[in-house]
Amino acid sequence: MPARDHADPLMLDRTAPDARLVDVQIAVVAGGVGGSRFVRGVRHAYPDARLTVIVNTADDIRLHGLHISPDLDTMMYSLGDAIDPERGWGRADETWRVGAELAAYGVEPTWFGLGDLDLATHLVRTQMLDAGYPLSAVTQALCTRWLTDSDHLQLLPMTDDRVETHVVIDAPSAPSGVRAVHFQEYWVKLHAEPEARQVLQVGIEKSRPAPGVIEAITEADLVLVAPSNPVVSVGPVLAVPGIRTAIIATKAPVVGFSGIISGAPVLGMAHRLLPAIGVDVDAAAVGLHYGSRAAGGILDGWVIDDTDAGLLPRLAQAGLTAVSTDLIMKDPAATSRFIQYGVKLATE
Ligand code: GDP
Ligand code: CA
Repeated sequence: MPARDHADPLMLDRTAPDARLVDVQIAVVAGGVGGSRFVRGVRHAYPDARLTVIVNTADDIRLHGLHISPDLDTMMYSLGDAIDPERGWGRADETWRVGAELAAYGVEPTWFGLGDLDLATHLVRTQMLDAGYPLSAVTQALCTRWLTDSDHLQLLPMTDDRVETHVVIDAPSAPSGVRAVHFQEYWVKLHAEPEARQVLQVGIEKSRPAPGVIEAITEADLVLVAPSNPVVSVGPVLAVPGIRTAIIATKAPVVGFSGIISGAPVLGMAHRLLPAIGVDVDAAAVGLHYGSRAAGGILDGWVIDDTDAGLLPRLAQAGLTAVSTDLIMKDPAATSRFIQYGVKLATE
């Protein structure tokens, strides 16, 4: 085996003899739609690596008596080639008859889209949880249907404990003048229109990392932070006690990718939530929010889009190693290219 030198930590040079990635372990921190596109790129870049995806569960919600895990489902359907490609979430060829029936009965809430095929997943998950299985075991059971090479790909919820993101918004008629709504209500029902005063991760202090999460980070050869929403996807994962510490301590290089390009998220509502945590909506501010490992943060390298290359001197001055490239996840091949490029440069 060629020695792993610093310039090519994952032996990306496949022209070198024996330069295979068979034993390489990669851990990815991710949310839903952006996270799953990113992970498809990781698989394309490192097809032989063993990949553990640590998925945000703070979007989870119980509706109609069902436990819904939006980010885990988006990841599972996407990696199982069952995702609706246009929407980026939910099942392809979905129908919506059950939801229409619930609405016809006047059952609230009507703002959350529940597809008929998707409902089966929620039914199985809820039954297993009610029977006493932890979410991580339920996720593994659901994934046996969708992830055929489970040796090489594992989805882990960040925690088996209940954590929910709530957004504090103005409510002039409430005695306190504000009220907290579940993140799903803020995003799906209110379209992120009310100004977010505060973002809370209810239950996070007492949550514990799901089994396997800390090991995946500690034993990884590479840790990647997807360009997922820094406030409601990556934020909750890092806030589960023990996870940030494990990332800070791992021997693996940690490389993050910006979901903020030219001062705006490519999709979603990060621009509505970043101000509530005191972070500017730009790729440099998000990178510095995660921070350089040399300065107590989590990153060895931060990858931003070429359109933001003007921010590189600011990042360098602040001590965060950063590079720019085309960060649009057009397809897994394009995503794979920027991941390999980012990993190589950010770890040189
Ligand atoms: P969610 O849980 O479904 O909201 O998805 P994630 O949190 O995983 O991902 C949402 C983030 O992905 C958003 O902040 C987007 O800006 C980012 N994103 C989506 N598409 C792209 C892309 O093509 N390139 C980059 N760099 N970021 C993207
Ligand atoms: Ca999400």
